[in-house]
Amino acid sequence: MSTDLEPVPSSAAPVIVVGGGQSGLAAARALRELRMPAVILEASDRPAGSWPRYYDSLRLFSPAGYSSMPGMPFPGAPDRYPGRDEVAGYLERYAARLGVEIRTRTRVQTVRQDGREFIVVPDRGRTLRASGIVAASGSFSSPYRPSFPGEEGFTGGLSHVADYRNPAPYAGQRVIVVGAGDSAAQVANELAPVAAVTLATRHPVRFIPQRLGGQDVHYWLRESGFDTLPAEWLSKITGGSVVTDSVGFQQTLAAGLVDRRPMFTALDGNQVVWSDGRREPVDAIILATGYRPSLDYLRELGALDADAAPIHVRGISSTHVGLVYLGLEYQRSFASNTLRGVSADARAVIAPLVAWIRDAPAKVGLGARDYVDTYQSEWQVHRYGRGTRADSEDQAPRRRTAVRADRLPRGAARAGGPPGRGRQGPRRPCPAAAH
Ligand SMILES: Cc1cc2nc3c(=O)[nH]c(=O)nc-3n(C[C@H](O)[C@H](O)[C@H](O)COP(=O)(O)OP(=O)(O)OC[C@H]3O[C@@H](n4cnc5c(N)ncnc54)[C@H](O)[C@@H]3O)c2cc1C
Repeated sequence: MSTDLEPVPSSAAPVIVVGGGQSGLAAARALRELRMPAVILEASDRPAGSWPRYYDSLRLFSPAGYSSMPGMPFPGAPDRYPGRDEVAGYLERYAARLGVEIRTRTRVQTVRQDGREFIVVPDRGRTLRASGIVAASGSFSSPYRPSFPGEEGFTGGLSHVADYRNPAPYAGQRVIVVGAGDSAAQVANELAPVAAVTLATRHPVRFIPQRLGGQDVHYWLRESGFDTLPAEWLSKITGGSVVTDSVGFQQTLAAGLVDRRPMFTALDGNQVVWSDGRREPVDAIILATGYRPSLDYLRELGALDADAAPIHVRGISSTHVGLVYLGLEYQRSFASNTLRGVSADARAVIAPLVAWIRDAPAKVGLGARDYVDTYQSEWQVHRYGRGTRADSEDQAPRRRTAVRADRLPRGAARAGGPPGRGRQGPRRPCPAAAH
C-alpha cells in the first residue's frame, strides 16, 4: 500500500466507522486521504469482514486483478480467482497498513445524536463521541428468511445459506436450494455430486457468463461502463438478480445434475408441495434468499424505516446529517457491494461527510444561522441571508427560503435550531440542499 498518507491530526472527535470489512476499510482509507481522524469498531476478532465466515470452497467471482483495494494490489497473478481465506488475509494486511485505529471485539450497540455530533455506545469499553458515522456493518449477520405455509410442522432441515460451510452434512440427501443468486447457484453446484438437488426459484435464473470474447466478464463490466450504471436503472435493465456463473452451473443444469423448478408453495411434515400439487419428501432446504443490512444500532437514532432499512440516497443518510452508509447492495451501482466497487462508493460518501464535519455550510454563510421556526404551522425553515438586498431594503418582504422541516435531515434541523424542536422522522430521500 502507498505509505504517502500524512499523519492525521487527532484533536477533533473522530469519524466512527462501524464494521471492519472491506467497506469499513475503504471508508477509513478515504478518510485518511482527506486527513480526517477515524476509528474502526469491529465486532469480530479480526478486520476481515465476513469473509472468514463464508463457505469453505468460496472462490471470488472477480479475478484478483479486479479485486484490489486502493494502494495495495491483490497478490499473485491478476487473472486467478482467490479463495475465501486469501481474501480475509489480504484485508487483514490492508487494515494493518492503513494507519487507522481499529478496535476489534467491539460491537456497536447503539448510536445517539448530541447536537451535531454522535455518541456511540459499544458493548464494551468507553462510550465514544463521533463527528460522523460510517455504517459499514454489512449484512451477513442478518440473513433474510421468507416464511412458508406449514413451516412450523416441517420435519426436515431448514437452514439459511449463511450457515452452510461444505457439502459433507448433505451427502446422500434430497436437498432443495431456494434462490436465484450467486450463493444459490454455487451451493447447488457444489452439492450436485453428493446429493439429489433441486434449485427452487420464483423466476428463471439469469446468468452473466464468466468469460466473454476471451476476457473475464469483469473486463467488460469496466470497459463497457456497465459498472457505472446507476442503481435506479439496473432493475429496469437486468429485470432482477443475475448470477455470475463462476462455477459452471449452467453446464451442471444442462447435464441434469441439478434441476430447476418454480418455487414450492408449502411444507407439510417431511414434504414440500410443488406448484403443480405434487408432494415429495425432502431432507433439507437451504435458503439462499439473501440478507438485509445489519443496522440495528441505528434504530434508536431513527435512521431506519419500519422494515429496518436505511433511509438514504446513494449511501447518504436522508435522516441524519453526518451519517453515511457503505457496502449496501446497489448503493450506487452493480459494483457497490463488491471488492472492485466499494472504494469508489467510499470516496463518494466520505467527501460530503468530511465537508460537513469541516463546516462547509458555515463557510458559505449557512449552517449555524439555520433554525426551525416551530411557530409556523407548515414547519418551515427560514434562512436569512446577511447583507442581502432583501435584508437591507427596509420594507422589502423578508427573503426566505422555506423548506418543510419534515423533509430535512434531522441533524440539519437540530444542528442549527433549538435543541429537540425539529420534527422527527422524515421518511423519504430528500436532501435539504435540494430545496
Ligand atoms: C457468499 C458470498 C460470496 C461473495 N463473493 C464475492 C466475490 O467473489 N467478489 C466480490 O467482490 N464480492 C463478493 N461478495 C460480496 C461482498 O464483497 C462481500 O459480502 C463482502 O464481505 C462485503 O463487505 P462489507 O465490508 O460490506 O461487509 P462484511 O464483510 O459483512 O463486513 C462487515 C463487518 O461489520 C462487522 N459488524 C457488523 N455489525 C457490527 C456492529 N454492530 N458493530 C461493530 N461491527 C459490526 C462484522 O463483524 C463484519 O466484520 C460475496 C458475498 C457473499 C455473501
